[in-house]
Amino acid sequence: MAHVVVIGLGLIGGSLARDLRRCGHRVTACGRDAARLAPAVGLGIVDAVEADWQAAVASADIVVLGVPVGGTREVYALIHPHLAADAVVTDVGSTKCSVVRDLKALCGQLPAHFVPAHPIAGTEHSGFAASLEGMFAGRTVVLTPTADTDPAATARVAALWQEVGAQVLSMTPEQHDAALALTSHLPQMLAYTLMGQFAETPGALAPLVGSGFRSMTRLAGSDPVMWRDVSLANRAQLSLTLRRYMERLGELAAAVDAGDAARLEKLFAASQAAYHRLPPA
Ligand code: NAP
Repeated sequence: MAHVVVIGLGLIGGSLARDLRRCGHRVTACGRDAARLAPAVGLGIVDAVEADWQAAVASADIVVLGVPVGGTREVYALIHPHLAADAVVTDVGSTKCSVVRDLKALCGQLPAHFVPAHPIAGTEHSGFAASLEGMFAGRTVVLTPTADTDPAATARVAALWQEVGAQVLSMTPEQHDAALALTSHLPQMLAYTLMGQFAETPGALAPLVGSGFRSMTRLAGSDPVMWRDVSLANRAQLSLTLRRYMERLGELAAAVDAGDAARLEKLFAASQAAYHRLPPA
């Protein structure tokens, strides 16, 4: 069984820690404030909290960075001189090109033991208290190793995710960021924007909010710092995706303005058919 150190014990790091402990691994958490993390031991999320990051990683088989993507470089810089020779490091960040770029800038190349990863799972909540057991069962985890990555390190990280029930996919960081701009980052931007429009509209609208509005805006409850980092880290792809969405909204507005019933029905029918082709959640 491995000693896994999670740095950044939030929603994702905490959920992974719960499942890894259930699988029999020993999990230690590190964070910026060890006292704030202490309750995670009593809650059964981790075995221990260690205030001294360097001591913790020195005995780690696997280190998981659960921090917002903007913090990856800073955290890796603090730990990498203290890692054991055969340790593997991975992350859970929602963008992958920026993580690879930041570590290359720090180390000259992506460290061979670093396996960039992104679990396609989560909620709009933050912090280890919101972590959930079984969050990754049946979910996809994308690994984006590069030519610099040691295949043995990739295999160890893939095995870790498979142990907690996830299905592992490999692709390039570029493919990941282009796809996730549409499937994750754009929906997040739409939820924030729709909620912003709601907030600026005068009147007592809350009693008129139904389940459709609730499900469309659920993601607006997400952490602004995390999404600030994701928006900046995947700026080019997110911008392209937003612009394409604005074109489509423009087509929709034109059909509404023109009272073009046939056009509206065609647009909605095409989207409904695409929705029904999605595999079950
Ligand atoms: P979270 O619940 O806010 O947890 C983030 C953790 O990182 C907190 O424990 C925080 O700890 C720590 N942290 C923040 N900034 C830090 C820094 N500069 N240095 C060290 N520690 C820092 O966030 P999350 O939702 O788990 O997201 C974590 C990562 O997973 C992000 O990269 C995100 O892109 C990715 N992700 C999120 C989701 C999702 O649905 N939320 C899904 C997939 C991937 P303290 O404040 O206590 O120090």
